[in-house]
Amino acid sequence: MTERLYYDDAYLWEFDGTVTRLREGKKQGTWEALLDRSAFYPTSGGQPFDTGKLLFAGGEACVTDVEADREGEVWHTLDRAVPEGTAVHGCLDGQRRTDHMEQHGGEHMLAGAIWEMLQGTTIGLHLGQEDSTIDVTLPEERTHLTEEEIRMLEDTVNSRIRLDAPIRCWFPAKEELESLPLRKAPTVQEHVRIVAMGDFEMVACGGTHPSSTGRIGMLKILSVIPAKGKARISFVCGGRAAAVFQKYMRCADKAGAALSCPVEKLSRAASDLKSRLAEAERKANRFETKELLDKFRAAESTEDLKGITLAAVVTEEADARAVTAAVSEYIAEKGKLLLLAAGERLTFARSENVPVDMSELIRRVGRGGGRPEMASGAGIPECVGVARKILMTEMK
Ligand SMILES: [Zn+2]
Repeated sequence: MTERLYYDDAYLWEFDGTVTRLREGKKQGTWEALLDRSAFYPTSGGQPFDTGKLLFAGGEACVTDVEADREGEVWHTLDRAVPEGTAVHGCLDGQRRTDHMEQHGGEHMLAGAIWEMLQGTTIGLHLGQEDSTIDVTLPEERTHLTEEEIRMLEDTVNSRIRLDAPIRCWFPAKEELESLPLRKAPTVQEHVRIVAMGDFEMVACGGTHPSSTGRIGMLKILSVIPAKGKARISFVCGGRAAAVFQKYMRCADKAGAALSCPVEKLSRAASDLKSRLAEAERKANRFETKELLDKFRAAESTEDLKGITLAAVVTEEADARAVTAAVSEYIAEKGKLLLLAAGERLTFARSENVPVDMSELIRRVGRGGGRPEMASGAGIPECVGVARKILMTEMK
């Protein structure tokens, strides 16, 4: 069985070992090797695998994946074959592992605080490329947290991080294990490994953790959304939290400069701007609607259409809402027929008492459809002239 060196030292980036087995990998051109001892962490408990290299006399192999099989053997996926019996010097990507330990350590602290303060049970850590998520079952089937609760959790976790309490991992004997105040029951029966985050939190875990809470750096909750009856909390820790802070500050500074206001007044300035814009749009729309109506009336002719007024209008492109408002208002009066081309948008409409199918008419001259009293579609402005001729001929 592979001796897992990270159990005793989570900061062991280099180690010596021997290849004990080699087989072909799942992907073509890859190989899988077992070592007698390894510091490489295999994907488990939501924490992704380590990457790195195996150096040996005459070359090196990249470790691109690490998995544990059912028997607990740790398989290292390699980009080249390293024969059984070869002595290797393993080198881990320490930056990647440090990042994983910051997120994983932060998850313990957060889950502990959620349990302690909100009686929420955490399951399933997913450590992603950008952020990490946990799913939390809260009392009364709540699936969200209030702004106040989020701040309380962050403050609690971050103050405990700053205390820089030691993080201890060990395999207790059965009697000791039974006496420990674990946050939740272990999922395995044998070789139960316990991690204690200072005095704040204790749970069974086989993962890698920072040596003290201070090395988690800081924790920031990014979002809480409902997910299958649970609250899904997304968060970042350590270097990722610092990067998020930098990014958000940059965005906030730019937005503040654009709106000429300090960052803390941004949301007020943005909502003011939004309502002023909406009001301006409403005014512009009313103006455009009135302009269109004036155009319809100016284009009216009553020649030979049995008292029905026909307006054939070609105009430049107009706001769709203004067109709808103007057309609806126009045909609310009795005896109106309207053929409108606003840019390349056709709208044919008529009053309730005019027996013409506008939907059919629009299809005869362009593309589109709709209801018998109002249809719209696309076509060149000349379609209006063609439709007018059809009406003049057929309604005589
Ligand atoms: Zn852990």
